[in-house]
Amino acid sequence: MANSTMAAGAPDTGAPGNMGDVRRSNLALVLGRIVQSSPGTHLTRAQVAAATGLTKASVSSLVLDLLDAGIIREIGLNPQGERGRPGVGVELNPAKAVMGMEINVDYIAAGLTDLSGTLLLHQTRERDNRNSAAAPVVAELAALAAELRAAAGAQGIQVLGGGLAVPGLIDDKAGAVLMAPNLGWNSEALDLGSLLPGAPLGITLFNEANAAALAELRYRPAGAADFLFVSGEVGVGGGLVIGSELFTGPDGHAGELGHVVVLPEGVGCSCGGTGCLETVAGQDAIFAAAGLGGHTRSENLARLLSALAEGDASAANAVGQAGHYLGVAVASTARLLNISSVVLGGHFAILGGWLLPSLTESLARYAPGKVPPENIGLSAVGEAGALLGAAGSVVRTLVEAPHRLRGQAIEA
Ligand SMILES: [Zn+2]
Repeated sequence: MANSTMAAGAPDTGAPGNMGDVRRSNLALVLGRIVQSSPGTHLTRAQVAAATGLTKASVSSLVLDLLDAGIIREIGLNPQGERGRPGVGVELNPAKAVMGMEINVDYIAAGLTDLSGTLLLHQTRERDNRNSAAAPVVAELAALAAELRAAAGAQGIQVLGGGLAVPGLIDDKAGAVLMAPNLGWNSEALDLGSLLPGAPLGITLFNEANAAALAELRYRPAGAADFLFVSGEVGVGGGLVIGSELFTGPDGHAGELGHVVVLPEGVGCSCGGTGCLETVAGQDAIFAAAGLGGHTRSENLARLLSALAEGDASAANAVGQAGHYLGVAVASTARLLNISSVVLGGHFAILGGWLLPSLTESLARYAPGKVPPENIGLSAVGEAGALLGAAGSVVRTLVEAPHRLRGQAIEA
């Protein structure tokens, strides 16, 4: 409330980069209120003032800034043709979008969402990125991003910025992948600027499992506030959500579920360790144990699913082993962090029904009563999770600091 009182008399200081802290936080407060309003409702300036405790004059001035930046737009509330001055509401500008992108071991993907999180466009391309240098992968993703951006532009939609999710440890400030063993990348500085040249919010880098966990948090209808998200591709990743916030720990590297040891005398892992969960529950480990391989990911998954449906013993055994060891790692995590809900993504979600019996049995054995079967959920967002989470984080950053777009020219 102290901020509100001060803001009531705060003058609009004009030029970009010359905005006081109070005004910045009030700008975020106003935008946050508009974002929270349910879809289809259009708050008036007076309603925003009432909800935020700011004065109407202050809200009007802040709304002007958001209109200038193109983040919101005005919408007439009275039926057309009605006499008198129509009521005016505001809403998020549907002509602004953010792009989520993903580089994974077997594919690249990009998708556009509007500022309210609705997926507008989405494309995935299978590509074997194992041991490929980073530059050509990023170049191909840049071409895909340019296609989506052009398609959006043809509909009058401007892409403000984007987020890129990669399966590895990242340094988001440096825009570098520190270690992505399944890609064979070590200390790779990515040319993020090439992905959306000139986009006002630029590109932010995310760990894939963390981004997907954020998407679960955002898109699950009524999920737990504390859960472990498990992503499954060639690698296995984890995203910890505690108190509805992503917990990333020191350096942002917490949640490396795939490298929790489940077989101390097991085989070597891509991370340099031994017996990690990934070596027995990663998708390639499952394919190999089931006697499959040598095809694309989607082909191998399809073959695995049909083998399971036909009652193939080695396929069932491979998936059963993966579920068992996933249970071992999740049981330890649940004990360590006092988490009792798990959300499965990637191939774990695709294998859901085949995997759940061994996973539930394993959890009951190694952490009795800690993660009941009804608390094991499958991803609500599926394969697009990582890019949706990355895109959503960019929007969240914008909502928390909308002054970043202030003074930006609005493209036609
Ligand atoms: Zn490992």
